[in-house]
Amino acid sequence: MPRIKTFLALACLTTTLGAQPTDRASRIADSVLKLMTLDEKIGQLVQAPGQWNQTGPAAPAGGEQGIREGKIGSFLSLWGAAETRKLQRIAVNESRLHVPLLFAMDVIHGWRTIFPVPLGEAATWDPTAVERSARVAAVEASAFGIHWTFAPMVDIARDARWGRIVEGSGEDPFLGSVMAAARVRGFQNGPPNTTLLATVKHFAAYGAAEGGRDYDTAELSERTLWETYLPPYEAAVRAGAATIMSSFNDIGGTPAHASRWLLSEVLRGQWGFRGLVVSDWAGIEQLMPHGVAATKAEAATRAMNAGVDVDMSDYVYQTDLAAAVRAGTVPMAAVDSAAHRVLRAKAAFGLFADPYKHSDTTRERTAILTAENRRAAREVGREAIVLLKNDRDALPLAKRGTVAVIGPLADDRNAPLGSWNGAGRAEDVVTPLAAIREVVGASRVTYVRGVPVDTPNTDGITAAVRAARAADAVVLVLGERADMTGEASVRSSIELPGEQLLLAKAVVRAARGTRKPVVAVLMNGRPLAVPWLADSVPALVESWFLGVEHGHALADVLFGDYNPAGRLPSTFPRATGQLPMYYDHKNTGRPPEESNHYTSKYLDIPWTPQFVFGHGLSYTTFRYSVPRLSATSVRAGDSVVVEVDVTNTGRRAGDEVAQLYLRDDVATTARPVRELRGFRRLTIQPGETRHLRFVLNREAMAMLDVDLRRVVEPGTFTVWVGGSSAATNEARFTLTGDVVFLAPAP
Ligand code: BGC
Repeated sequence: MPRIKTFLALACLTTTLGAQPTDRASRIADSVLKLMTLDEKIGQLVQAPGQWNQTGPAAPAGGEQGIREGKIGSFLSLWGAAETRKLQRIAVNESRLHVPLLFAMDVIHGWRTIFPVPLGEAATWDPTAVERSARVAAVEASAFGIHWTFAPMVDIARDARWGRIVEGSGEDPFLGSVMAAARVRGFQNGPPNTTLLATVKHFAAYGAAEGGRDYDTAELSERTLWETYLPPYEAAVRAGAATIMSSFNDIGGTPAHASRWLLSEVLRGQWGFRGLVVSDWAGIEQLMPHGVAATKAEAATRAMNAGVDVDMSDYVYQTDLAAAVRAGTVPMAAVDSAAHRVLRAKAAFGLFADPYKHSDTTRERTAILTAENRRAAREVGREAIVLLKNDRDALPLAKRGTVAVIGPLADDRNAPLGSWNGAGRAEDVVTPLAAIREVVGASRVTYVRGVPVDTPNTDGITAAVRAARAADAVVLVLGERADMTGEASVRSSIELPGEQLLLAKAVVRAARGTRKPVVAVLMNGRPLAVPWLADSVPALVESWFLGVEHGHALADVLFGDYNPAGRLPSTFPRATGQLPMYYDHKNTGRPPEESNHYTSKYLDIPWTPQFVFGHGLSYTTFRYSVPRLSATSVRAGDSVVVEVDVTNTGRRAGDEVAQLYLRDDVATTARPVRELRGFRRLTIQPGETRHLRFVLNREAMAMLDVDLRRVVEPGTFTVWVGGSSAATNEARFTLTGDVVFLAPAP
């Protein structure tokens, strides 16, 4: 124990001297590193896997001895105040240098109080709500001894077949960057002992997997990488994320775990990242099946030389890195830097000062699933709900009258937890059925499951039709099970699985000719192609997987206690065959609207999506003024201020998400038809007009030229401000003068 006291004294001394915490942490890391053998340094780079679920085994066999011998620097998937305390005690009391352990875990959208899945949270278009959710997750998880979360996942996704689209913020780099930074703040900023180290993942372009097949090649141009995929990682790094995770995919033949260009040149060189790079699960060993390493030793060499500091779970560094250093294929300096980063992260996090600071057996019981946390989950949940369609004011529903609740997900307690649900428990979930019963009274609700989610059993359809006929209103809850999105959960079709469409058709037919509202609620983790529903039900609601308060949040919207304002963070196509689909595409030379056979179009369906990016309705209506510009002509490099008035023209208060899109009309390289450059979610009272001001600076107008240099080119730009990416109110300005270079070619 004496040495740890020395570090403590050093820490206190530097605090009194007013040194930057990072400097202090570096000095602690320096002093520990000096005492370490090569094996102990490598030990800091080893992340051992722990338990997989709440009933699984705790520390793996040999784990405790490994800690004693200084062979393990961190654990993942191991939690519980008692368990983490026990292992930490071994590290700080029984290992030679008393270096504390880090405990990591996938805390993605809540810990015990599960919030909406990240795609759903992105649909709030409210970074404050998203930050709040991450904050609650950090408060709860930290009490269980967790220090480090593998979140936020910031991968842009444009192919909804990919199951991990649920873990990110959708298709847009601007929205994705705002959400990425909000999550980093939520996890990392808070009262002492309640923060988590955030991990930006998966670096890079994991979401561009070909065909949506998980782990597959990301085949994209360097332009697309820079313009579309990299911005959210950079935003999260700039927001101060402590760690970043390399991705399973390869780009241009180089798997990310072996990409020196990505991990060292871009990340550390260009972005100035000083934190830790952690591999993805067994990602180093997988350099062998990728075919870029023949042995584990080669895999370790490539990963370490590329810039992967911490080896998650596959023990390749533990078994093979020392030999590589001795053979001279890995410089000692690379191991030193990596070990220094781990030690520095531990010091900056305060673990040398208090190794047990997060393992709190009292808080573990009292800080979780509190009424306040549940309230937060409900509030974020209802902000995430997107009203896709509402003809003839089918919604909100009357609270008096009978309701038939139909569908396989209406009373499913697992689905709302979504993928990666931490310590979430099905028993804590309020289902749509339970919440609807609370609102209208259990005796006035009939529930029929109808069909299973994805097996061909239609026996329950007759009962569903009977219930629909008898009730005053029908709520159909359809979609996907939680395990249909997430890692390795790819679907070749993004239509409703099983016989759910058959059920919906029978129910809608039963209600035809009556005035009874039929509301279809979707519960899913990816955009779904639901053209029949979109055409045939009067009201369609996207509810994602909203967490433990799913039912309450949904009922708030269905019965009008909350006026929905969520917006789609991903385009909803009409058919799987349209994928990949996203709003900021480039025009072809033959746009679809031309009445010529030889245009960009489909022969069998319209060219357009079902619901555009940014779409979402309200129970009230909003009117936008034409955008006013501070100038219609400025020099390239100068800013333009865009002002707009938004009026609530209906009879209810509500939130509106004002979105600003920009197009560089003619440039030296083809530009997207429009790009999101600003947005604001705001509450507007009936009859009230809110004045909004957006500043378009040179960054907002920048593009990459043919040599991939960041430039602002003179010429005309079009601005739209409105409630979705289909906004039509426009204004135009011209940039004059010469091209402005913002940065050299990447
Ligand atoms: C996933 C990561 C995750 C890790 C640890 C991997 O399979 O790709 O996102 O953080 O496992 O659980």
